[in-house]
Amino acid sequence: MSALAGRTAIVTGASRGIGRGIAERLATDGALVAVHYGSNEKAALETVEIIEGRGGRAFAFRAELGAPDAVDTFYAALDAGLAERGAAREFDILVNNAAASGSGRIHQLTTEVFDRLFAINVKAPLFLVQRGLDRLRDGGRIVNISSAATKHAFPDSVTYAMTKGAVDTMTLALAKELGPRGITVNAVAPGYIATDMNARRRATPEASAALAAMSVFNRIGTPADVADVVGFLVSDDARWITGQYVDATGGTAL
Ligand code: NDP
Repeated sequence: MSALAGRTAIVTGASRGIGRGIAERLATDGALVAVHYGSNEKAALETVEIIEGRGGRAFAFRAELGAPDAVDTFYAALDAGLAERGAAREFDILVNNAAASGSGRIHQLTTEVFDRLFAINVKAPLFLVQRGLDRLRDGGRIVNISSAATKHAFPDSVTYAMTKGAVDTMTLALAKELGPRGITVNAVAPGYIATDMNARRRATPEASAALAAMSVFNRIGTPADVADVVGFLVSDDARWITGQYVDATGGTAL
């Protein structure tokens, strides 16, 4: 039987990049996947199409995570999607993957950008968990996508790195809080992965080569490199792992 058969997984920011890779992996493992997106409906529907094309189950739903009513919008849209498929409102897996980047260096930073990044990258995941606690089944899984930028200095984007530091701290506290219910909470930290988020950093062959050289495997990661780690953490095999920061950077800066 498929590892996640009968389970429902929510993946935020699953329209593109790493989130799409995670959605594909969890659907391949048998979960019904709720594919969240912010504005790019076309991309989200493509994710669903890819999954369904392989015999999996998924649906897309929208919520702008930087909006004041983000959590209400999120769960209302999720519920509509679940109801349409005759699925229960309870779920088993929440992957907090959606994030915004690009805060810039300290001298470029504005309070508006600071507030927006913290709203999307920190406030939204925390309150999505809070609001979801009565429907996340015992034995469930929460995976928060962090970043290598919390362990290696990343002055290029200081606020972004700070938001991911908050995600690591949240992971630790929630793992303790939810342990008695058999729910594990872990953070997965990618290094450079080829997605839209860093397309500009890969604009030239020289720039791409420099990013590739950061990994001991001398290549830029793929969404599947991260998705497979998440696939393990949400499986029954990872039941004894919680509160961890899992480095999925391809040996960056070893
Ligand atoms: P992408 O920029 O490729 O995709 C971002 C996803 O998040 C999209 O699905 C997007 O939805 C959604 N999203 C962004 N902003 C919002 C918002 N305001 N409201 C709702 N949804 C939103 O990102 P990646 O795949 O590269 O990154 C995924 C995760 O991995 C992030 O947490 C990122 O910080 C982390 N990470 C990425 C690294 C990399 O090298 N790529 C390295 C380290 C960490 P839509 O399509 O609708 O815009």
